[in-house]
Amino acid sequence: MTDEERADAAHGFATEQVHGGFVPDAAHGARVPAIHMSSGFVFDDFDQARERFAGSDDGYTYTRLGNPTNADVERRVALLERSAEAILVGSGQAAVTVALLGLLQAGDHVVSARSIYEGTRGLLVQNLGRLGIEVDFVGDARDLDAWAAAVRPNTKAFFAETIPNPKNDVLDITGVADVAHRAGVPLVVDNTLATPYLVRPVEHGADIVVHSASKFLSGHGAGLGGVVVDGGTFDWSAAPERWTHLTSPERSLGGQSYVERFGSRAFVVYARDVIASRIGPTPSPFNAFLLRQGIETLSLRVERHSANALAIAEYLDQQPEVTSVDHAGLASSPFHDLAQRYLPRGAGSVFAFTLAGGEAAARTFIDAVELFSRMTHLGDVRSLILHPATTTHAGRTPEERAEQGIDDGLIRLSVGIEDVADLVRDLERGLAAVRAGRVDTAASTGLEARVGSVSDLAALAHTVPQGHVIAEEL
Ligand SMILES: *Cc1c(COP(=O)(O)O)cnc(C)c1O
Repeated sequence: MTDEERADAAHGFATEQVHGGFVPDAAHGARVPAIHMSSGFVFDDFDQARERFAGSDDGYTYTRLGNPTNADVERRVALLERSAEAILVGSGQAAVTVALLGLLQAGDHVVSARSIYEGTRGLLVQNLGRLGIEVDFVGDARDLDAWAAAVRPNTKAFFAETIPNPKNDVLDITGVADVAHRAGVPLVVDNTLATPYLVRPVEHGADIVVHSASKFLSGHGAGLGGVVVDGGTFDWSAAPERWTHLTSPERSLGGQSYVERFGSRAFVVYARDVIASRIGPTPSPFNAFLLRQGIETLSLRVERHSANALAIAEYLDQQPEVTSVDHAGLASSPFHDLAQRYLPRGAGSVFAFTLAGGEAAARTFIDAVELFSRMTHLGDVRSLILHPATTTHAGRTPEERAEQGIDDGLIRLSVGIEDVADLVRDLERGLAAVRAGRVDTAASTGLEARVGSVSDLAALAHTVPQGHVIAEEL
């Protein structure tokens, strides 16, 4: 499709999330596409096998290389992000990995915002670091001069998140994209917490978008997934010597380069055929189906999530026990202007607030709530609560946490789609416990008794052998 054809064909967001990329089922007329739980696909004859391998017949061969259920979700996410093409993978971490390995090789350098998901920080420092790829972090992502100053001759990518957690410190997408483009490199943006309903980074200058589809895109919290989305905007031929994997002759392409054969799709084809299919983070078609079920209601959920979160941020901002609320929708937020510019529909529903009483108050608060689930994970229809300093950011030094504004009294919320009055009442429970300086709230309502068996179940679950938990990756 040309850009013009795409613009003509484009529907509004809510229509696209329900119908986008749908291919009618010729065999049975199923309105909801089938789940193709099949590892492989039959060739009609000898010649068709040869043609599928050569790429001259674009039918399916093997699910690691492509699957109709997974492809259905890929088309829909690409349309929602107003982008050229998407690759569905098994998790958000797989998406970040595939995107970066599609750009980087030993000796290369990445400039990243410091305020990013801890798992991605670990990937950049520990995993890519061992492969000879270096990273520099920009402390204040609003400081565009700092991004420019971090660029080296071997810099090959900029990385940032549209809405980082837990600080809700919204990214200046166009500002950072402009610096990246002046340096001749693409901007890769993790859009997990915003979703394309709140912002489509490619429309603001980002080149490649990644998602943890495990979060808002799914919403149900029932399965992991990830997506790499290529805007198709970056010109790889402007400096061909920098991207030799895309611009030099390939035997498998009959001596053409990826850029010669695929033009603006060069990166996404390479990332699919050479990175994702070799590393193999293939999503189950069943998970792809679950993800598509979630995407169909994305706008409705995110609208409600965002409205609930803003109402709760405003409520918390008024409480004497709360010293600060990190939500860019508040006029007092240093990120409010960026939120107004990039996120007119809402600044998302993952944010933090800080209790004056430090870790002890956070502990009392978190143990007192009953509707909010004490959980890592984000973007669930259910509201979630977590203490970053002792969980996701426990692996960082106190100085590093202080630099990022992760105080001992800071609590992260992922606000769900429940009735906001019930959520506020739950948070009041937490504040009341803090005020009373007590931990035990079991007597205050009957709910604890009703869910009391959960801890018994948890005790059972702990008898199941588990991997060693690396806190920063959760
Ligand atoms: C959760 C998350 C990831 C990792 O995604 P998984 O699906 O858990 O692998 C990456 N980036 C952000 C912003 C996330 O919230």
